[in-house]
Amino acid sequence: MVKADAYGLGAARVGPALRDAGCRHFFVAHLAEGVALREAIGPGPVIAVLNGFVPDADGDAGLLPVLNGLPDVEAHAAAARKRGRAAPAILHLDTGMSRLGLDAREQEAVAADPSRLDGLDLRWLMTHLACADEPEHPLNAAQAARFAAICARLPPGIPRSVANSSGMFLGPAFASDLARPGCALHGINPTPGRPNPVRQAVRLDAPVLQVREIAQGDTVGYGATWAATRPTRVATVAAGYADGYLRALSGRAFGVFAGRSVPLIGRVSMDLIAFDATDAPGLAPGGAITLIGPDGLTPDDLAARAGTIGYEILTSLGNRYRREYV
Ligand code: PLP
Repeated sequence: MVKADAYGLGAARVGPALRDAGCRHFFVAHLAEGVALREAIGPGPVIAVLNGFVPDADGDAGLLPVLNGLPDVEAHAAAARKRGRAAPAILHLDTGMSRLGLDAREQEAVAADPSRLDGLDLRWLMTHLACADEPEHPLNAAQAARFAAICARLPPGIPRSVANSSGMFLGPAFASDLARPGCALHGINPTPGRPNPVRQAVRLDAPVLQVREIAQGDTVGYGATWAATRPTRVATVAAGYADGYLRALSGRAFGVFAGRSVPLIGRVSMDLIAFDATDAPGLAPGGAITLIGPDGLTPDDLAARAGTIGYEILTSLGNRYRREYV
């Protein structure tokens, strides 16, 4: 799953890396993301477009549409008849999300009259789990049962795709022919509350612009929300909410310098944040503070402090950093 620019990490670089690691099926959300990914990874691997797209006379643009409702099924089947060539597609069956995918009524219509699928070359039947990150949630088993029941009424032999990252950890009842992991590839723990089984993928360092001494009682930043209780060395660092270091982190996070944690002080502003560097004497302009990293706060840690999820931390990362892929 490399939608949203590979969860903010850069699909043009992440895509080829996954391809070279053996990935043969990619998913994006938008058609334009699919076109850009094809440029990046070249011909060969399948690129599926979750939001689907309108079929045109040229065919499928080398991308595989996900059909999310009966109107999509009808449009692609009609286009296939017109072209005289079967239209490859993924049929998405809603079993509990109530967003995209054929709903129960549409599933019934297709099961009762499978000729509605004529003209389609269905490569996968897929569903998406709503609560896979809560392993005990009863909807997980209900969705698996609903999916199995409807698949059994559709033409046989079509491979199935069920699990996102957290679904992959739910056990054999949720195994299928094709998993669609996203967050786990990008270093986010798919099942919060359980030990993190994934390797961290992101590190964010930001440069120290200035270090200055302030007196006891002086305040730092907008709203004067933080006041020094002792003479303090304040390090001003070039990162802010425009870079994905969320404003909700104000007063709730720390950075790491030379293995030592330095507290974030005052409000996060658009381009700048401040740290109390009093106990980090080596910290000076030209140096850098680690904001996200395996030796500091992970995206999941930051998310917990900001009241959000790791996905949002990654997809919020801005484009002002120099990015290195190693
Ligand atoms: N499948 C679908 C349909 C999705 O929308 C997503 C992401 O939201 C995924 C798979 C991947 O989910 P995750 O990043 O939790 O692995």
